[in-house]
Amino acid sequence: MNRIATKMSTTVDYEQDGKQTGFIRLPHSVHRSAYGWLPIPVACVKHGQGPTVLLMAGTHGDEYEGQVALSKLICNLEVDQIQGRIIVLPMVNFPAAKAGLRTSPIDELNLNRVYPGDPEGPPTMMIAHYVESVLMKMADYALDLHSGGSSLHYLPCTIATKATDAGRRDQVKELMQSFGAPHAFFFPSGHAGGTTNHAAERQGVLMVGTEMGGSGTVSADCLAICERGVQRFLAKVGVLKNASAAVAPASTRMLHAPNFRYFCYASGEGLFEPVAALGDEVQEGDLAGYVHTPEDPGCEPTEARFEASGLVVCRRTPGRVIRGDCLYHLGCDI
Ligand SMILES: [Zn+2]
Repeated sequence: MNRIATKMSTTVDYEQDGKQTGFIRLPHSVHRSAYGWLPIPVACVKHGQGPTVLLMAGTHGDEYEGQVALSKLICNLEVDQIQGRIIVLPMVNFPAAKAGLRTSPIDELNLNRVYPGDPEGPPTMMIAHYVESVLMKMADYALDLHSGGSSLHYLPCTIATKATDAGRRDQVKELMQSFGAPHAFFFPSGHAGGTTNHAAERQGVLMVGTEMGGSGTVSADCLAICERGVQRFLAKVGVLKNASAAVAPASTRMLHAPNFRYFCYASGEGLFEPVAALGDEVQEGDLAGYVHTPEDPGCEPTEARFEASGLVVCRRTPGRVIRGDCLYHLGCDI
């Protein structure tokens, strides 16, 4: 961990009781604004004694369900409902979220790959450093709300990686069940480095992620699951005083991908014709889809086949593909 302090400051006081909204200021000196700062929106609601919960959306700027759910939550939270503290960042990678892009248009970085960040690095590195070294230091629990973004569509699910510590994994599972999305999914180990999950684990924060729909839009059903899940999560960890304010629990099917055979990739460039649908149960060897090359008339399409058996939890959205694009991924019961 870089020992240099953050250069970011905030217009809210995390130690003050009540409900505050404001901005985390990220210094950004550019041609049009010499002493300017980027305004990362933040809300802090603090009342009485209880845990601190960090709620984030917009880690990837083209994932909208969580950004909408947290915007609504900020408006609706009332101070006397709270025992403890809720810190909400609805657009954590603000430049990416403002542009509706997965990665930041300023430095091209993916916030979910650069933790623990760098207080002297480009904006995305500074944000990662602030989240891990300031916000997670204060937090007991966290939610990082994602969806499929522009290129994927997911069955609504909570997500986590297979943490090394079995005790921590059981606690995360319990929180996933409290969120009550229809599915929970564990990524295989080594899926990606530098994620929010890694930061949370380093800081001893119990964190759950989500994948809610996607395709670069907001769907009513996924948004409803996301909003109810956030309420249940806040009630479960004890920061929502009146637990009856939360909606009734729901059952969650626990899934995982034991390895990368559960991911199906395009083997060439062309136009993707999906055959499998989200929610299908498929077998190893089943046809997943075709890749067509209309630029080469008379050329037969290439088949894509599943290399494992399981439930289709994620599918690619855009039609054009190149070799290496993820077309589907599967989950199987834990
Ligand atoms: Zn994401």
